[in-house]
Amino acid sequence: MRVRIDEIPESGRILRFHWDEDRLRQFVPPGDPFNLKLLRPVNVVLNFNRHPDHIRITGKIEGSLGVTCHRCLGRFVLLLNEPVDIYLVADARAPKAEEKELVRDELAHEFFDGEVVEVDQLVAEQIFLALPVKVLCSDDCKGLCPGCGANLNEEACRCKAGGRQSPFAKLKLIKTGLRESTE
Ligand SMILES: [Zn+2]
Ligand SMILES: [Zn+2]
Repeated sequence: MRVRIDEIPESGRILRFHWDEDRLRQFVPPGDPFNLKLLRPVNVVLNFNRHPDHIRITGKIEGSLGVTCHRCLGRFVLLLNEPVDIYLVADARAPKAEEKELVRDELAHEFFDGEVVEVDQLVAEQIFLALPVKVLCSDDCKGLCPGCGANLNEEACRCKAGGRQSPFAKLKLIKTGLRESTE
């Protein structure tokens, strides 16, 4: 989905649409640490306004995201209610088309080619920015037992029962270790 700047009237333009999993897939990075899935399309409202030296886009993105807890690896639903407020600045130095890479600073300025706003990319970026570095299914998630791999939110540790460690438990631990070490 694209919006051409010269098609935005002086009074602004509002877009309301649903944005779904198929669109998200095009932007999810390989090895996405969240295992992000849109369980159903998110609702997006974007209000485009032209100003002499920039385009301002306000609105919000609402919905729910399926993610993987970084501590217990359980799936859970994260509610999304993200306000959008972006200044898009035309930058002649920005590379054109496919090579274009949006640059962002603390003030939520983004650069674009001055002609076309790539709306799908913008929505995907806003969703990823809304995610914390580490997502937890709850603040007091107990995680996995490092000995037996039990999900301590759901079951008791089996270490003391003297049971052998299952290969699956070890696999889970390796995955957890990887996640922790990339933080
Ligand atoms: Zn958890
Ligand atoms: Zn255990």
